[in-house]
Amino acid sequence: MLGSLARWLRILGYDTAYDNRIEDDEIIERCRLEGRVALTRDRRLTQRFRLRGCLLIEREELFEQLREVLEAIGHEIDLNRLLSRCLECNSLLESVDKARIRRQVPAYVCKTQSHFKRCPGCQRIYWGGTHRLNIYQRLKTRL
Ligand SMILES: [Zn+2]
Repeated sequence: MLGSLARWLRILGYDTAYDNRIEDDEIIERCRLEGRVALTRDRRLTQRFRLRGCLLIEREELFEQLREVLEAIGHEIDLNRLLSRCLECNSLLESVDKARIRRQVPAYVCKTQSHFKRCPGCQRIYWGGTHRLNIYQRLKTRL
């Protein structure tokens, strides 16, 4: 239910696990083991957690949900963390030499971009670091 929120939390650089097929007990256990806070729209689930460890997301709109999370943890958007994680698998991205990924990206991209990052988890390649500032400024005005 919170797939878009999870994706945006990854864009913001937060370590975000997402699985919409697991049962409540598993969510509680995983949060305990991995030191995670559960985000949920399910009021019943929040009652099963102790006081900490679960945040009920009450708003419908994505950016309002993001604001709810940031307010709850007392954070502002951090430009340095932005786009530091893989959007697919949540791993922290690593800088990679252009020469090493030349064959894995379109020729046009290779010609026009100079900084690349690779996901050590799923090997996906990311570029377009210059968009980071644009995304940051857009988020700043909305959050
Ligand atoms: Zn990945």
